[in-house]
Amino acid sequence: EAVVNRIAAGEVIQRPVSVVKELVENCLDADSTSINVVVKDGGLKLIQVSDDGHGIRYKDLPILCERHTTSKLSAFEDLHCIKSMGFRGEALASMTYVGHVTVTTITQGQLHGYRVSYRDGVMEHEPKACAAVKGTQIMVENLFYNMTARRKTLQNSADDYSKIVDLLSRFGVHHINVSFSCRKHGASRPDVHTVATTSRLDAIRSVYGISVARNLMKVEEKDNDPSSSVFEMSGFISNANYVAKKITMVLFINERLVECSALKRAIEIVYAATLPKASKPFIYMSIVLPPEHVDVNVHPTKREVSLLNQEVIIEKIQLVVESRLRNSNE
Ligand code: ADP
Ligand code: MG
Repeated sequence: EAVVNRIAAGEVIQRPVSVVKELVENCLDADSTSINVVVKDGGLKLIQVSDDGHGIRYKDLPILCERHTTSKLSAFEDLHCIKSMGFRGEALASMTYVGHVTVTTITQGQLHGYRVSYRDGVMEHEPKACAAVKGTQIMVENLFYNMTARRKTLQNSADDYSKIVDLLSRFGVHHINVSFSCRKHGASRPDVHTVATTSRLDAIRSVYGISVARNLMKVEEKDNDPSSSVFEMSGFISNANYVAKKITMVLFINERLVECSALKRAIEIVYAATLPKASKPFIYMSIVLPPEHVDVNVHPTKREVSLLNQEVIIEKIQLVVESRLRNSNE
């Protein structure tokens, strides 16, 4: 059975960045305002994610890493949509089958925190009292220690680290009321560092730099038509002065970080037709759709989504982007 669990866990946790994504989403779910990530050896040696959220109650610790343990009841009700983050209490459990997981946490009003380690879904020992500041710290060590083949395919730690940096950059641009940092273990400077702000442009500037931020235009669209394609969209898109070698698209749908290659291509086409010299744009876009219109692939690690009425929605967004680009040209 351990082998079966490990194989299943290896499906949920494909690479170090999948661990970081699940841990950070848990921090966000716990109402954190500060999330700090430390990575060693591309994440294979260590991934440590600390937050200042509401913490985990002592009585929840024994079952925390059992499969399907979730405190997010709505996750079960919303299986067909992506309104709530998290994949049905699968993430932490999976990590314990392919790595060594240690949780340190303190809830409000407690005098001390608790630390406990997990392996193969169960606690290795009773929770130990320890000093702790507000929130939760989760450490995943020796990822894929028991999966030789997987470890072999992940030899390029720089590549895995850059995927993690990219992930935190995207979260930083969207969740502007949260401060994020990401650094290599032992490094004095973080590679991502955002400070909580009320300005989206400030957040984009601190992640992607001034040369990106100064060439952006706001886009916004709200459609209250009660028919099938109700949607809200807001974001920033690059202007004629932004010239890059490849498109950057930071996309959140219903507060969830996703990819939608059809939409990405559709926007590129608009740019190629309207601003051919700046045809590799920077796009940050947050879209709100009725949850039943979004189909996350059943596979939990896939970021790619498909939308109901995808053509209609994509065409609408194309029109909004196109008219914004034309307005700026005049
Ligand atoms: P899910 O997010 O789908 O519920 P996970 O396996 O990711 O499943 O997490 C299991 C549970 O552990 C969560 O429901 C939550 O109660 C708790 N948890 C995990 N990480 C944190 C955190 N950083 N702060 C508070 N609670 C957490
Ligand atoms: Mg989760």
